[in-house]
Amino acid sequence: MSVCQKFNFSFEVFPPKTKKGLEDLNQTRQELCQLKPKYFSVTFGAGGSLQQKSLEVVRQFVAHGIAATPHISCVNMTQQRLQALLCEYKQLGVKQLLVIQGDLPSDDTQIKIEFNYATELIAAIRKMTDNYFHIIVAAYPEFHPRATSPAMDIENFKRKIEAGANSAITQFFFNSDAYFRFIEACDKFSIRIPIIPGITPIMNYQKLVQFSTACGAEIPLWLHKHLKSYSDDPISLQEIGIEFVSKLCHGLLQNGVKEFHFYTLNRAEPTYRIIQNLI
Ligand code: FAD
Repeated sequence: MSVCQKFNFSFEVFPPKTKKGLEDLNQTRQELCQLKPKYFSVTFGAGGSLQQKSLEVVRQFVAHGIAATPHISCVNMTQQRLQALLCEYKQLGVKQLLVIQGDLPSDDTQIKIEFNYATELIAAIRKMTDNYFHIIVAAYPEFHPRATSPAMDIENFKRKIEAGANSAITQFFFNSDAYFRFIEACDKFSIRIPIIPGITPIMNYQKLVQFSTACGAEIPLWLHKHLKSYSDDPISLQEIGIEFVSKLCHGLLQNGVKEFHFYTLNRAEPTYRIIQNLI
């Protein structure tokens, strides 16, 4: 059970590339575990070695008795590889997966594509393992950047549920209106699965702008200007971020949200303090 009764939460981490990154992640894990999250999800990298690192991080979390939710993507995924990975996760006692299409590698690494969309991967997982895994999928309150219309994006979300998804985590957002409008729209499409808001702490101005642009999450102008003016002052930027994101979560809680998924970016402090502010 979480440290507070008001809401549940889980954390996303990514597999670090270096030994130092791995040590830092161990520290982050220990600090965030004090809050008793439901689980940690571990992202799936685009390249082969990063995908192997995801599995290693999942193994480490499990070895520490922590519920881990591996992400699995279509990138470089073959039927054979999927079968082996699912088998490994079953042996580790993993019960839940986060299934996504996946981002392509930023360099020119050669990749294999046997599954085109998350829907196809979900269908294959259900075929191979029936209802063994709880499957989480991605949802987009401000719509996926490649969706040609909001309705098309929600129809795609619905197809993922029909293929076997049990719940969803949203892309991060800074406008709670976008989240509630999305929930309303999903309701009109008879989508009834839990849609858990994905929350990102704010730590680095340049990276935030870059990532928000890529994934289509709008940073409100007033917030953008504030953050920009502190772009060379990471301590103040983090403080503004903690205050803003705590208020965002508070507003979501007041309007009935009962669970959050935090994109920790492998750092404990901002997420830890945001949760403390909500308790
Ligand atoms: P899909 O649901 O497959 O949809 C992708 C796009 O294709 C959408 O625009 C959709 O409308 C369109 N589409 C779907 N089906 C069809 C069809 N049949 N014909 C035409 N168009 C179609 N990326 C990683 O690389 N690793 C991770 O670990 C990772 N974790 C994530 C976790 C969360 C919670 C979120 C929100 C995102 C994550 N991502 C990750 C990013 C994700 O891979 C990208 O956002 C990706 O571009 C879309 O993934 P998806 O599963 O939503 O795609």
